[in-house]
Amino acid sequence: MENTRLFRCASCGEEFRLGEGERTLRCPSCGSKVLILLEGESLSRRKCGGCSGGSCST
Ligand SMILES: [Zn+2]
Repeated sequence: MENTRLFRCASCGEEFRLGEGERTLRCPSCGSKVLILLEGESLSRRKCGGCSGGSCST
């Protein structure tokens, strides 16, 4: 299975998956870049400053 992340758009609530190599993180529905990571590895694994969910272990 590919490394994909599950995101939810903060604007319209659309949930969608993006692959690990995807660099343009935008909502496919409304085009918003304000996304909430629901599942998968954090985008920046080294620093956890923006982590607000429960997936962060540090
Ligand atoms: Zn959206």
